[in-house]
Amino acid sequence: MYQAATTRYDQMVYNRVGDSGLKLSAIGLGLWNNFGSVDSLANQKAIVHQAFDLGVTYFDLANNYGPEPGSAETNFGQILASDLRAYRDELVIASKAGYVMWQGPYGNWGSRKSIIASADQSLQRTGLDYFDIFYSHRPDPETPIEETALALDQLVRAGKTLYVGISNYSGAQTKVIAAIFKELKTPFIIHQPRYNMFNRQIELDLLPELAAVHKGAVSFSSLCQGLLTDKYLHGVPVNSRANKATIPFLHPAQVAQTLATVKALNEVAQARQQSLAQMALAWNLRQPAIASVLIGASRPEQVVNNVQALAHLDFTATELEQIETILAK
Ligand code: NDP
Repeated sequence: MYQAATTRYDQMVYNRVGDSGLKLSAIGLGLWNNFGSVDSLANQKAIVHQAFDLGVTYFDLANNYGPEPGSAETNFGQILASDLRAYRDELVIASKAGYVMWQGPYGNWGSRKSIIASADQSLQRTGLDYFDIFYSHRPDPETPIEETALALDQLVRAGKTLYVGISNYSGAQTKVIAAIFKELKTPFIIHQPRYNMFNRQIELDLLPELAAVHKGAVSFSSLCQGLLTDKYLHGVPVNSRANKATIPFLHPAQVAQTLATVKALNEVAQARQQSLAQMALAWNLRQPAIASVLIGASRPEQVVNNVQALAHLDFTATELEQIETILAK
């Protein structure tokens, strides 16, 4: 029988999301990979327990996470039922709709039909009565943005989510949908963009917009899927994401292309007495809008290592310059 560590709130930092009332753990656990039907449930439990024991309260799902699509929600639902039910009010559980989930014209994108059906399916799979945050996973170029906004608003009114968010929307799209939510008085509080040292587009476009509308952010792929860690410094380990047939998003070729930069960044991290993963997470958290950084993890030790980033979040001007110089090469 799992009992959460009594020390779980001792180390974690909790940051307010924009100007909302909600605070998120500065590190959130993402269940995109490593939580599917192809993965060991015992290991999934160990990762979730480790995260919660260290004060991680934010758990990030989507309808299609697995593989098989849907299985991450089902597995997380099992872990909730067996171990975390007593802690429901200590958790912020999020899901999303917007990528392809089921066959036919309604299992994808951002129509009212698709979002509401998908949210209902996600609630069923997880066994939850409501999500804490429900996101539109990506903008839909064919559905009026107002329709997507109204569908999310309806989820709030129906008690199926407490807050709403958007993911992968540009700064301009964020401005438009934020204005609609404001008019509707929808509790829209958060954006979920990709952000890491190798993917900085949001610095130009989205972050200024989030500051203007007082919304927060949670970054995804904060470790660039593992590239911004020390794991590939001496080759591609057999059990790493770059080598896994079930995860087609990272390849050994990307590892080779980034290796020189990663080695140089690793030296800066070592001089700061941090692992590269810890420095990469701290670097994301220097952005005022970013309340939380999502991490993926394939084992509990990675969660432990990543949470230790919080012990050293500050950067000197020299360190920031060194990082800029390395990234500019
Ligand atoms: P990361 O960039 O955090 O990469 C995760 C991988 O990095 C792990 O699986 C592990 O790789 C490796 N890793 C993590 N910590 C360490 C460490 N300390 N030392 C060495 N290696 C480490 O994450 P993801 O790209 O998986 O994204 C995180 C979450 O963001 C997702 O789970 C999801 O919730 C969300 N997301 C949202 C998207 C959206 O469109 N909204 C898109 C993508 C992600 P290994 O498996 O090799 O051990």
